[in-house]
Amino acid sequence: MRRLRLFFATCLLAACQNQVVDESGTSTATDNAEWSNIGFDAKEQRHSPLDKINENNVGELGIAWFKDLPDARGQEATPVVVDGKLYITTAWSKVFAYDAKTGKELWSYDPEVSGEKAVDTCCDVVNRGIAISRGRIFFGTIDGRLIAIDANTGARLWETQTTDNSKPYTITGAPRVVKNMVLIGNGGAEFGVRGYVTAYKISDGTKKWRFYTVPNPQGKADGAASDEVFAKAANKTWSDGEWKISGGGGTVWDSIVYDEELDQLYFGVGNGNPWNHGLRSGGQGDNLFLSSIVAVNPDTGTYLWHYQETPAESWDYTATQHIIIAEVDWPVGTEGDAKGDDQASILTEKRKVLFHAPKNGFFFVLDRTNGQLMSAEPYVENINWAEGYDMKTGRPIENPDARFYKTGKPFIAIPGALGAHNWHPMSYNPATGLVYIPAQQIPQGYEVPTSDIDKKRGRLGFNVGIGWAVGQLPDDKDIYKAAIAATTGKLVAFDPKAGKVAWSVDYPAAWNGGTMTTAGNLVFQGTSIGLFKAYAADSGKELLSMDMQSGIVAAPSTYMIDGEQYVAFLTSKGGAFPLVAGVAGGASRKIPNIPRLVVMKLGGKTTLPALPEKSEIVWNPPEPTSTPQQVAEGKALYGRFCLVCHGDSAVGNGFTPDLRVSGTLASGEAWASIITGGALKQHGMVSFSSQLKADQVEALRHYVIDRSNWTKANVAEDTAPIAR
Ligand code: CA
Repeated sequence: MRRLRLFFATCLLAACQNQVVDESGTSTATDNAEWSNIGFDAKEQRHSPLDKINENNVGELGIAWFKDLPDARGQEATPVVVDGKLYITTAWSKVFAYDAKTGKELWSYDPEVSGEKAVDTCCDVVNRGIAISRGRIFFGTIDGRLIAIDANTGARLWETQTTDNSKPYTITGAPRVVKNMVLIGNGGAEFGVRGYVTAYKISDGTKKWRFYTVPNPQGKADGAASDEVFAKAANKTWSDGEWKISGGGGTVWDSIVYDEELDQLYFGVGNGNPWNHGLRSGGQGDNLFLSSIVAVNPDTGTYLWHYQETPAESWDYTATQHIIIAEVDWPVGTEGDAKGDDQASILTEKRKVLFHAPKNGFFFVLDRTNGQLMSAEPYVENINWAEGYDMKTGRPIENPDARFYKTGKPFIAIPGALGAHNWHPMSYNPATGLVYIPAQQIPQGYEVPTSDIDKKRGRLGFNVGIGWAVGQLPDDKDIYKAAIAATTGKLVAFDPKAGKVAWSVDYPAAWNGGTMTTAGNLVFQGTSIGLFKAYAADSGKELLSMDMQSGIVAAPSTYMIDGEQYVAFLTSKGGAFPLVAGVAGGASRKIPNIPRLVVMKLGGKTTLPALPEKSEIVWNPPEPTSTPQQVAEGKALYGRFCLVCHGDSAVGNGFTPDLRVSGTLASGEAWASIITGGALKQHGMVSFSSQLKADQVEALRHYVIDRSNWTKANVAEDTAPIAR
């Protein structure tokens, strides 16, 4: 508390400009009425003590002000509010600052990322937010830079390249400020990179330490904080395999959390590269630290402990999801049982824990003093890769069929690669004891690569070591319907102590927004079908549902100014699922994508502008002139190189061009000018000439012509192009 008081005193004297209050200080909340970290405070519970808006009046929320944003791509940032100013990052790593009360734009900063970098993003050109400390704002860019800017003026203070830009690294996560350092990881594990976390000095961006999450491929020391633990133990968990070429993955693309109480730093590590453990590491070894939570000393980056959630990861089951720090009264038994007393009461002990709901479908409670597993229970239904966890060993009890590279048979996994919970932040309300998880079911097929196309590794496209045929839906109306029905979303209120779902709300589509909870007994969440919702945090009763015109994926935040409480959030769809989903997007497919910052308050009277008229789309595919072999080859190539940006089975997504209505389909020459000529490289569609020969480019065109004709004849209404 002493530090907080000092900060206020300095603020009053000098209007909070560039104050260096306490070099050992952290970026924790300076005032509970604001939202000073993307996760609220260092614990990242996303729980605000504000209760001016509460279960009795939340229905009176209306829009106070809104701002349209420049790019109709994914908006994933949580607004951060400090000293009456609201900061967001947007698609393409841009930063905007507003007066948090009036909405007046104060400044903006565009790091001018090259459009060509979009091809290196697995999951859209998104950014999840800023860190702020002592008058400085820190954020990462899609092209791997970490930038510091002045919070008052938006002027750049320093920037540093944190990645090798000859490799497909990206940054989408928010940095975290810890002591006198700013920490950042990176992404790129689908393409083939080696993951790490780096600490930089906040003063000038010089590197302090780095921790690699996977071994050095040459077996050398890196001169990094991670050297010792790899030499002692972690190297032994890897065997010969493609990781030595690809880098092994293990990117830390989202969660980094500082435990002030124990002075430990935790981060969540991503999936392996390639996904297929049989190819990655010869089917041998747990492959540390993939799919693990790792704890390190924040000052030096040296290893303290880890817990690996998915040993020998093979399904893109990242552990990068949001980590929450908490203290709970953990049940340890029942008093009175032995005496036959029917007034038995539950005995508890205080435990320092962290909560985690990674992609693999199980909710983990870890003792954060030592990484010991306390609980691992499913937070969704239908999980089929494992039936649970052995609490003695801390390891999953796996379904042997899930290891498709061992059986040689395709496996349709639940969860799939997009996870039972992806990056969308969850929140924890200490009063209800519940964690609110934006959960989902998105099944995915996995099989070993058999075609030369899927076996080939290269700079472009996903290099994940699976066959893509099983990942694409066959042309069948009934299968389309089944895929839509099997792909759903859910708000799950999970009770970590009971290891059970307390209540849940079903949504018709996956990829719903992050959550926020408050002392007003409220949970807030936007949905992929364009509604902004509020529920009673204890019971799940719906208290608000407002049409926001656009799908929502980001999480809200809340703050108080001059006695009024505000709720702020970004709208837009975007991110991995809407890009790749195809028809499985279901009810969210036709919902508009409007990039916008919306701020609400009780009695807000601002109305959103009318939606633009939908433009007429010409649906006129060329006559098919191809052989079935060309179409089959085109389909395999599409899966390997095009699917993750243009959507399953080329049905379009409303973000990237719908290839079925491309004006270039009728001309092999015009088509090739884009695919291998690079005519649209500034939009992220770089030349694929290093990967595709002329006959393959033609096969792709014939596949899309085939798709276009089939769709028109069969299910044009369900999968018609989405008007933008
Ligand atoms: Ca991944």
